[in-house]
Amino acid sequence: MLSVLSRSFSRSSKNSLGNRSVLIVGAGVAGPVLAYFLHRYGVHPVVVERTPQLRTTGQTVDVRGAGREVVRRMGVNSVIREKITREDGLALVDSAGRTQAAFGVKDFGGQGFIADIEILRGELVNILYEQSRNHTQYIFGDHPSSINDQGDHVQVTFASGNIRDFDLVIGADGIRSKTRRLLFSDKSPIHYLNMYTAYFTIPYSQSDGTWARWYNAPKGRTVLIRPDNQGTTRAFLTFRSSQRGYEELDPDMQKELLQKVFADAGFETPRVLNGLMNSNDFYFEAIGQVKMDQWSRGRVTLVGDAGYCASPVSGMGTTLAFVGAYILAGEIGRHHDHTEAFRQYEALMRPYVTKAQKLIPGSIHVASPQTSTGIAFRNALLSFVARPAVTRLLTKLTESKTAEKVTLPDYEIVLAQ
Ligand SMILES: Cc1cc2nc3c(=O)[nH]c(=O)nc-3n(C[C@H](O)[C@H](O)[C@H](O)COP(=O)(O)OP(=O)(O)OC[C@H]3O[C@@H](n4cnc5c(N)ncnc54)[C@H](O)[C@@H]3O)c2cc1C
Repeated sequence: MLSVLSRSFSRSSKNSLGNRSVLIVGAGVAGPVLAYFLHRYGVHPVVVERTPQLRTTGQTVDVRGAGREVVRRMGVNSVIREKITREDGLALVDSAGRTQAAFGVKDFGGQGFIADIEILRGELVNILYEQSRNHTQYIFGDHPSSINDQGDHVQVTFASGNIRDFDLVIGADGIRSKTRRLLFSDKSPIHYLNMYTAYFTIPYSQSDGTWARWYNAPKGRTVLIRPDNQGTTRAFLTFRSSQRGYEELDPDMQKELLQKVFADAGFETPRVLNGLMNSNDFYFEAIGQVKMDQWSRGRVTLVGDAGYCASPVSGMGTTLAFVGAYILAGEIGRHHDHTEAFRQYEALMRPYVTKAQKLIPGSIHVASPQTSTGIAFRNALLSFVARPAVTRLLTKLTESKTAEKVTLPDYEIVLAQ
């Protein structure tokens, strides 16, 4: 996918590129990765995170394709692999919990339904923070209330009342980015997929075993139960609805809504709904993709979900955050002129993002069928795909596609020139 990146690069100027300061808004995945590489390229990163401490909630995320190469270049491959959730694979189950189709973690070259790098978001965010914190100023419990591009610098006023100047500002503040709203006041670029999802942790039960279990109920409802590496179980409830605005409700109302929507879903849903009411890490989101014609304006740009969220349906959100942060840091590192850095960043990332955001036609219907007949048909289809011969064939295809995804520019070499 990133084969375009294999062309040779040169540094725009050998003048001092250091002493520049960059404000990164958001300490999720993209923020700390960007901070780490900016420091490596001699730029001074400051990260501001709205929450009072690192936001380590969230369920399992995965890292795929070129994202894995960024993980290696950041030096966190082994520590991430120590923390993976160690699920054996994904089983599609019926209302009695009987397996209809099963995919092991090694199927599709380790990058199938359950990848071989599945890690709790909180553990990943913590690793990235630890790897970047020694060379980054982290500010917690604050956020920009205004961002004024003055031409030769950016003046940022924080909610705390502090005012500081930076050479550049990067919004890494997630799908509902406030940086994006301050920067581009026009209409929201979020394209909703008419689906809602909720994540929360419930007590482990013997039936959870070591496999993720995926259950579909009619009317586009999905219950996904995944054992984690901490002795608990991560539950995901997803439902289809064209009604807008549930993400704006307060958490108690969202929980009430889920109780109603999933009341007659079957399988182990009563247990999940019971766990929902007692969970303290409940997260609810309208699933959408962020699509923008341009990610940058003046001295400000966006990275990760803020600029190009691909949605959990794509399975590429965290990977895009890694790759985008790596390329943006490299381009800032090698260009003194931010206009050129942002131009190159967009030119390199845009095709990758476009491809990642392209959902396989009908994938939402396949993932969440509306009727019992649709569910039965989908399960029969996937039970065919799960046959070892078919999986092996598809694995070969997946491996050859993955190989093209790992060619990233080597900015260390560029900057040493
Ligand atoms: C709490 C949470 C839970 C999640 N759980 C899952 C999950 O279970 N599965 C999944 O696939 N994806 C999940 N995601 C999304 C996933 O982390 C991202 O799709 C992906 O990793 C890209 O990361 P990102 O750094 O671009 O954005 P994010 O990971 O969303 O990080 C954005 C960061 O910016 C901070 N922030 C937001 N607004 C401001 C502001 N105005 N000023 C300063 N800081 C701000 C947020 O608190 C957050 O720390 C979750 C995201 C969050 C925030």
